[in-house]
This record gives sequence, C-alpha cells and structure tokens, in this order.
Amino acid sequence: MSETPMRARAVVDLAALRANVRALRARAPRAQLMAVVKANAYGHGAVPCARAARQAGAQWVGTATPHEALALRAAGDRGRLMCWLWTPGDPWREAVEADIDVSVSGLWALDELTAAVRAAGRPARVQLKIDTGLGRNGCQPGDWEKLVAAARDAEQAGLLKVTGIWSHFACADEPGHPSIRAQLDVFRDAVSYAERQGLNPEVRHIANSPATLTLSETHFDMVRTGVAMYGVSPSPEVGAPEDFGLKPVMTLSASLASVKRVPGQHGVSYGHTYVTPGETTLALVPVGYADGIPRAASGTGPVLVGGKWRTVAGRVAMDQFVVDLGGDSAEVGDEAVLFGPGDRGEPTAEDWARATGTIAYEVITRISARVPRVYVGEVREEDGPGRDGRDDTGA
Ligand SMILES: *Cc1c(COP(=O)(O)O)cnc(C)c1O
Repeated sequence: MSETPMRARAVVDLAALRANVRALRARAPRAQLMAVVKANAYGHGAVPCARAARQAGAQWVGTATPHEALALRAAGDRGRLMCWLWTPGDPWREAVEADIDVSVSGLWALDELTAAVRAAGRPARVQLKIDTGLGRNGCQPGDWEKLVAAARDAEQAGLLKVTGIWSHFACADEPGHPSIRAQLDVFRDAVSYAERQGLNPEVRHIANSPATLTLSETHFDMVRTGVAMYGVSPSPEVGAPEDFGLKPVMTLSASLASVKRVPGQHGVSYGHTYVTPGETTLALVPVGYADGIPRAASGTGPVLVGGKWRTVAGRVAMDQFVVDLGGDSAEVGDEAVLFGPGDRGEPTAEDWARATGTIAYEVITRISARVPRVYVGEVREEDGPGRDGRDDTGA
C-alpha cells in the first residue's frame, strides 16, 4: 500500500459498514433505516459513509446540524435526509430548497421555518420532535397541543408537510431501564394525539442503536442507527459488536517514528510519570491528543506493537506518545495498531473506552482531521448513489 500515509491513518472499511447496515436492517425488518452520519460519520467521513449506507439499503440519512446535511447534498447525496439540531438563524431556506426533512421542537422554529418557506416558494418537510423524557431537545408534552395545532394549520395552508413524529431515548443502552417503557408510553400518546388532530406522518421513530439491537417494540416505522453502523457497541451492557454480527469499521494505526534502547530509571514523556524499571526499548508512536488520542490514555491506553499489547508509557503529548517494549525489539516504521476490529489481535474502541474512562462513541468520533482517512472496500458506481439494496458481494 504505497499510498498509505506513513505517520498515521484511520483505515475505514466501507464493506464492513455496508455489512453492518444489512445486519441492522435484518434486525429491524419492518422498519426503514436511517444511517446517522453526524460528526463526520462519527469520525469515519460523512460523504463516503452516507454513500455506502445507501448502497446497503439505508432509506434515510441523518445528521445533527443543517450544515452537515447541506454538505452532504453539495457532495451529491440524494434521497431522504433529515437533520435535527437547529439554532435560531440557521439555514432553513437552504434546507427547504435542498429537500431536507427538518426537525421542529418548538414554535420559534416553526416561525423561522414558515418564513423560509415563503421565501423559498416551496413547502417544507417537517418532523415534529416530542421530548418523551430525555430532557434535552424536543417539545415538552405540555406544549405538544400548541405545536401540533400550529403545524397542522401550516400544513393545511400548504406551507409544509408533517412527514414524521419522533423522539430519542435516554437510557436505551441500559436494557431494562424503567425510563424506556415510560418514554414509549409518552411517545405513543403524542403520536396518537397528533394523528387525531389530523396529522398523517410517514414515519414515527424513536430507536437509536441500542434500541434497534435490543428492543424490537421500539422500531416503529424507522430506526436511526449511528454507533452500531460503525461496528461499535453502544455499551458493554448491550453486548459486544460480534454478538450482533457487527464488525468495527475503523482501524487506527501509526508507524513507529523512533525505537531506541534506554537504561533503567529513564523518565518518559512530560512529567516523568513513567520511569523505565530497567534497561528496555522505547518506541515512539507519532500520534497524540491533537489527533484525538485521549490524554486520559496516559499510562493506560492499549496498543498492539510486534504482536503484543503494550501500554502507553507516561503522558500522551500533543503529537506523540511512547510505549515500552520491554525486552522486545522493533524497527522504525513498524505498525502500532491502537484500535480496530480485533481480528489481528489489536485492541478495540471498546478497550480504549474502558482504559480511558469514556464511551466508545467518543473514542472513534474524536479522531481528528490530522489523521488521514484511507477508504477500503468501496463499491465503484457508474450511476451514482442511492440504489436501494445494492449488493456488494463482488467488492
Ligand atoms: C446520534 C443520534 C442517533 C444515533 O445514536 P446511536 O446510539 O449512535 O445509534 C439517533 N438519533 C439522534 C437524535 C441522535 O442524535
């Protein structure tokens, strides 16, 4: 692989991503699937991941911000696309003109949207969000009546179509948590109220990855999968990726930039929080917290070098960290694998989450733009993305 960037790279296996989408669709066979590609597809690259997800049959793509959704359209993404995190002054008109489903949680948003609709001269597609208990975005149940009435009036005036009613779970990654049932009750009530008021949404949806994997009664008309699509588990309680036939999509590795013998009692990296216990070999891994390696991995992060797990020795610096190879030797340029699917014996994103006191979502998402993404397993297409159920067995 002569084009492999020498310092470090995040290899993104799009064949694995497509297989994960198919596995998730099989788990929610009566629902449509929204591929969530917010935050640059959890660090994997939004444009190639959205394309791959659509090739594997994802009917919808979802982002948090309107800017993320508009960037996908600008890159040629066609098909149903939704974004949900709106702030006053955001590009409502551009989203309407780009045929993006927009989410509305309150009257201020409906006002900004209808002004944009008049400017654009075409109706909007709107999904109303109910806060069923997460306590984050979404319309409080006490305000739902007003929001539904305003949306219905705007729909009857031809300004918009309410295409969806939706919500988001707080604790779906803790199977059996009592809030799950409570949120479902509120959701069903909110949907049936809106339908009695004359709304006729195409899609009702509340399931994220953990709900998609563990709670079929939450699937409704659509599931919104993010982390599982990247082959990463939502939480240890839900299970390991392989329990669900999911394969990690990203492999993060770097090439050793220095290997040297040092005597015992040699301090390593800033603060000398690690001191060599005896004469040993130190290897320099040229990625640091500017690349998204958590500084909390100092002294704890696992790395595969020369077929063995090593541990970050001392502090993670901005651009580099060190591992102690014990008595083993290595060559400059040898590969250090931080995380990947695990099939070569390397740690996984879940291992990094455990070692650094965070969740695997953060481990993958925080890998920064300085790390080049290298795509493998891509399907070549003559006629553009968006073909439903495209098979890729020849890829
Ligand atoms: C991020 C997000 C998702 C996807 O969550 P996962 O747990 O990664 O599947 C779904 N819906 C909303 C509203 C989100 O913000």
